[in-house]
Amino acid sequence: MRAEIIAVGSELLTPYKLDTNSLYLTEKLLEVGIKVAYKTVVGDNREDLYKAIKDASKRVPLIILTGGLGPTEDDITREVVANFLKKELILKEEIIEKIRRHFEVRGIKMPDINIRQAFVIEGALVMENNVGTAPGLWIDEEKIKIALLPGPPRELKPMVENFLINELKKYGSYNYYSRTMRIVGLTESETEEKIEDIISGLKNPWINILAIPGQIEINILGRGKNSIEEAEDRVNEVFNRILERLKDYVFTLEKESLEEVVGKLLKKRGESLSVAESCTGGLLSNRITNISGSSAYFERGVVTYSNNAKMEILGVKSETLKKHGAVSRETALEMVEGIKRLSKTDYGLAITGIAGPTGGTGEKPVGTVFIALSTPQKSEVFKYRFIGDREKIKWQSSQQALYHLWKHLKNG
Ligand code: AMP
Ligand code: MG
Repeated sequence: MRAEIIAVGSELLTPYKLDTNSLYLTEKLLEVGIKVAYKTVVGDNREDLYKAIKDASKRVPLIILTGGLGPTEDDITREVVANFLKKELILKEEIIEKIRRHFEVRGIKMPDINIRQAFVIEGALVMENNVGTAPGLWIDEEKIKIALLPGPPRELKPMVENFLINELKKYGSYNYYSRTMRIVGLTESETEEKIEDIISGLKNPWINILAIPGQIEINILGRGKNSIEEAEDRVNEVFNRILERLKDYVFTLEKESLEEVVGKLLKKRGESLSVAESCTGGLLSNRITNISGSSAYFERGVVTYSNNAKMEILGVKSETLKKHGAVSRETALEMVEGIKRLSKTDYGLAITGIAGPTGGTGEKPVGTVFIALSTPQKSEVFKYRFIGDREKIKWQSSQQALYHLWKHLKNG
């Protein structure tokens, strides 16, 4: 079965908000063998939405709508779908009660406008919303199937997982299976070159290579006509061959972030980390501390942006800064040894570089970054020349710092 997703919301047609629900929905639908053939984004406008639903119904037998189930005047999805199906909207007392309780436990009286959310399209199944107020609806008819889901991702996801997926399982015509690996330390072209002979011309499984600065993700999606095992076999065969080639660079098979994986390794080993940052301005510390439980291994992070801070806090020598500059192998080394001396951790990381767009020179162009890693055995400095804007250069610096630590932890 093929489906169309219609994302409803005028904000999705502005420069400020992107429809991300459809990405999630596409993944979930594929898991039960339903392929998304079309996506539409439409504003909060009755005529436009009506037309979008009508067009979709001519193309596919399954339409998934997200958004427009809120309590305000501009939330029109329920009404327009009822109109399209020529069905009544019926007010359900038990839903009003549920919404009333949702407000009550928060000590608020239910605003009258929320009663709108208790209207159900005749014949539709109600999908409970345990996170917010708008229930979802599922219309399963011979000719057309329509799901109405709330816009907020945190409300939509549990509804899909607890209810909709089970309904849709009946209609999947293929069995899909997918696996993912994430890679660090290789560029996209280096990655492709290493596995070109494996992936060229492949249709089933289908390979998708996604690059963000400093990280590559390989998705392998397989299809089985008769069974899920057939899809799994196809995927695993290719997956294992690719993994064998790239194993030195694959840091997760579970879609984890690099900071998560590094954190787990440090925790397992009972070891500690401190960092000294210049051009990344705390980004590396931020990423490390985004992981819950990081206090078990992260001792401290300092931002030493000025020369003075590098000398005063980390003990970088004035002669070093004068002779080699703040962005140099020598300074990075003294930074990492300084932070380790202060914090007495097993590992230290230090970053100093030129994030641009100003401040570059012929000898040290924008994007020149020195990353120092200190392990219990030795200290090492790596020189990089990153490309991109300021934010990208900062990101890649933090990524490569984590990469060097990961590489050491993984092998050591
Ligand atoms: P609604 O159900 O239309 O009232 O949507 C409520 C909120 O959900 C919106 O303000 C958005 O922040 C969010 N939202 C709606 N549609 C989407 C979408 N397709 N992708 C991501 N977020 C969405
Ligand atoms: Mg809306």
